[in-house]
Amino acid sequence: MDYNLLAEKLFPHITKQPEDIQYPARELPEGAKVTRMGPSPTGFMHLGNLYGALVDERLAHQSGGVFYLRIEDTDKKREVEGGVQTIIDAFSSFGLPFDEGATLEGDRGAYGPYRQSERAEIYQTFVKSLVQRGMAYPCFATEEDLAAMREQQEAAKENFGYYGKYAVWRDRPMEDIEAELAKGTPYVIRFRSEGSIEHKIKHEDLVKGKMEVTENDQDIVILKSDGIPTYHFAHVVDDHLMGTTVVVRGEEWLATLPVHLQLFRAMGWKAPKYAHTAQLMKIDEETGSKRKLSKRKDPELALTFYKQQGYPAPSVLEYLMTLLNSNFEEWRRANPDKPMNDFPFSTKKMSGSGALFDIDKLKDVSKNVISRMTAEEVYDAVEEWSRENDPEFHALFVRDPEQTRAFLAIGRGGKKPRKDLALWSDVKPYMDFLFDELFQPDYTLPEHVSKEDAKAILSEFVFDAADTPDDFFAKMKALAEKHGFAAETKAYKQDPEQYKGHVGDVSMVIRIAVAGRQNAPDMQSVMQIMGREQVQARVDRCIAAL
Ligand code: GLU
Repeated sequence: MDYNLLAEKLFPHITKQPEDIQYPARELPEGAKVTRMGPSPTGFMHLGNLYGALVDERLAHQSGGVFYLRIEDTDKKREVEGGVQTIIDAFSSFGLPFDEGATLEGDRGAYGPYRQSERAEIYQTFVKSLVQRGMAYPCFATEEDLAAMREQQEAAKENFGYYGKYAVWRDRPMEDIEAELAKGTPYVIRFRSEGSIEHKIKHEDLVKGKMEVTENDQDIVILKSDGIPTYHFAHVVDDHLMGTTVVVRGEEWLATLPVHLQLFRAMGWKAPKYAHTAQLMKIDEETGSKRKLSKRKDPELALTFYKQQGYPAPSVLEYLMTLLNSNFEEWRRANPDKPMNDFPFSTKKMSGSGALFDIDKLKDVSKNVISRMTAEEVYDAVEEWSRENDPEFHALFVRDPEQTRAFLAIGRGGKKPRKDLALWSDVKPYMDFLFDELFQPDYTLPEHVSKEDAKAILSEFVFDAADTPDDFFAKMKALAEKHGFAAETKAYKQDPEQYKGHVGDVSMVIRIAVAGRQNAPDMQSVMQIMGREQVQARVDRCIAAL
């Protein structure tokens, strides 16, 4: 067989040789890692994408390397308009910007094009060279041929696929190929596998550890009938040319890893290191058993869910880090104030088995993350979130920014900050009572307090903005004593029969009147923010309602 002639017949339009495709060597410090995200622009970005991207980003930036974006748009059927924008927006909204690659304004970096659909000539140049060397060949088998072959394999209880005697186009004479080409029969290009399932290859995965995988014996498709490569071939060519040193991808690719290793070897290229990440699982609410997160059943799989529900981006990242590295939580406890990126992330601490996603745990993490933010940061985030998601609340929230910020500052800072907020949407129920427009009081009194006592306490209470916390507490004690409540909780506990209740009940009456609820942040601070007039109006309203 004259392979050069065959290559010319198949790729007359390809005039380049592999040597003509040259990129500069990456100038990076020793040990620097180059990682990439290779999402497809299907319009749907999921939590698994972010999970992998966080690994990529940390590996690259922790080592002084590069994290780049490649758009894997070889499947036109699955592509949606605006898909690339969705990808770029998703990662930048989580604070994981790319150093290089596809952007909305075009390519950034010296290793492009970064969209696979623009790389057809590059792939075909390498495929042509494989054909010239007898390492790849055209296959004209139709869907029906392949289905019939599968039936035959099933009946004979043999392995499925295109290999051995089933690889019917592998050694066909030129006349047969020419006849099909003359008829215009569509064809794919297959890689001629020299592998055998009798052989095992050793692989050391950064996540899964040492393993043995079976060599590939299938003549897999590398170029589809439209001249576009399959994932396998595009992965090998792109990650080689773009200088990727670590490929982080879902464990669903482990099954075809032997194909990729085989292709790297055939091309004479060094394969990158691989980190195959475990699937994200959850406990199914109905069955109580573990299952994969599903697009249909679990809204939390979509990345858009988090922004819309008001999860702060840093909370989602911190939570994913707790899933990724088992020692992260311990580090966080020891370093509550450090930025997450100070944590020494390592693939060695990643679990090879499924990561269990738990939204309640995410909320707990988020409470901690928000509790460490400044009032200013919370204000800015809620301002932005509510503008898009709750315009009515937004108008009140920004009406008096200083007052709002002062409220958000209550219980913030210090060793034990309040942890009321997990989502930006929690801010409204947390502070709505501050705004008369949203104030819907529940005047249910504590058990020990009669309406009469409550009314008396309220009418005798005089708020003074100049009071220190001690002055305020002294006022509460005086009111307690006057109305038959213990001034100290301790005294009440020792002799409950002697009192109606204790000082806590008295301050609860004030809280119920001013905040319209039993749960609210420090009342003295709240009243100072409200000011005398609003406090008095609240007190009067409560007296009238009781
Ligand atoms: N386009 C592939 C996917 O979306 C990328 C896998 C990889 O990172 O290699 O699954």
